[in-house]
Amino acid sequence: MDVTAQILDTVRRFVDREVIPVASRYEHADEYPHPLVDRMKELGLFGATISPDYGGLGLDYSTYAMIVEELCRGWMSLSGVLNTHLMFAYVLSHHGTQAQRERYLPAMARGEHRAGFCLTEPHAGSDTQAIKTTAVRQGDHYVVNGSKMFITNAQTATVFSLVAKTDPKAEPRHRGISLFAAEKGPGLVVGRHMEKLGYRGIETCEVNFEEYRLPADALIGGEEGIGLKQALSGLEVGRINIAARAVGVARAAFEDAIRYSQERSTFGKAICEHQAIQLKLAEMGTKIEAARLLVRQAANMKDRGERCDLEAGMAKLFASEMCQEVTLEAMRILGGYGYVKEFRVERYYRDAPLMIIGEGTNEIQRLVIARGLLQRYKI
Ligand SMILES: Cc1cc2nc3c(=O)[nH]c(=O)nc-3n(C[C@H](O)[C@H](O)[C@H](O)COP(=O)(O)OP(=O)(O)OC[C@H]3O[C@@H](n4cnc5c(N)ncnc54)[C@H](O)[C@@H]3O)c2cc1C
Repeated sequence: MDVTAQILDTVRRFVDREVIPVASRYEHADEYPHPLVDRMKELGLFGATISPDYGGLGLDYSTYAMIVEELCRGWMSLSGVLNTHLMFAYVLSHHGTQAQRERYLPAMARGEHRAGFCLTEPHAGSDTQAIKTTAVRQGDHYVVNGSKMFITNAQTATVFSLVAKTDPKAEPRHRGISLFAAEKGPGLVVGRHMEKLGYRGIETCEVNFEEYRLPADALIGGEEGIGLKQALSGLEVGRINIAARAVGVARAAFEDAIRYSQERSTFGKAICEHQAIQLKLAEMGTKIEAARLLVRQAANMKDRGERCDLEAGMAKLFASEMCQEVTLEAMRILGGYGYVKEFRVERYYRDAPLMIIGEGTNEIQRLVIARGLLQRYKI
């Protein structure tokens, strides 16, 4: 067995033995799964895509996508613990200074430093360039003021990739945006944990910056005005994660449904023998395979170092819409049992919509995809 197959096998066993038996309990209680996260640390998952030069596993994004799918087959929230962390690792690896990489990557690979991603603000999500958080240079440091919204891992993270305006008057607006490594400290205040429909057990909070002082060398790559481009390259990794999540959640729903369809009988035969149920199973299985291939394509491109915003957007769009459909179909197949908390399908159904909204809504994905297609097919 090669290293990739070994890691996948280990993650699969972790999910089967340790995650699936407890996931719904944590999720219903909205409780952070500390023991599971500690195990993920032991398995090296916090360093999954970090180079071995910094103590990580150095896996490619194709393997990472398969790990995310496996984790989400057990419980989607676990992949959220890794997502913003590995997005920041990507940004540091590709845009950080040598000193920034050395400062964070080894501790991140060990899971000692844990990273969140601070982009969205109360008034600005899709319109990223409308952010109002400012970072004003004063001598050897920046002073940051502003408010970030919906920040995943806000309580457990030790450092955030922070997107802020260093020149609020710049035109075009993105030239005024910069990216920082913001460690927790005085002036960085994590607000309340927001109750969610699904994706529970993992924190989503407001994060406020009040006269928060950042050393000048916290500026990623040491250059102002390129923060949006740096953040967007990290978001491609995030979109691969979200698309792989959707495949994992849909697969869990499908596997529960196809098993149930062989156990449950109506009108003298197993429900899987009714053609109406077979049609559903065929559609569900086919769509999951198609989504997985799109994820693989985007991940392969990322591995080759190619720009993949179009392909990652397509994978995220298709997989997340597919996941919503498949989890609903699974609920239909389980009938009343699909709707109650004793069965897992209701959890998958509540987790699915986040993939439609998070990491850029699907409306925005369609715009990005259309823009990419029009460039590619320009006459
Ligand atoms: C559970 C959860 C976790 C999250 N974690 C993080 C995180 O860790 N870090 C972070 O920075 N953010 C995070 N987010 C924020 C998330 O990325 C945003 O919610 C998302 O980008 C949408 O922004 P918005 O909510 O402000 O919606 P808006 O941008 O206000 O959009 C509202 C609606 O208008 C549509 N719309 C907007 N503009 C257009 C347009 N030009 N054309 C067509 N339709 C349009 C949108 O698609 C949507 O349907 C998280 C969100 C959730 C729910």
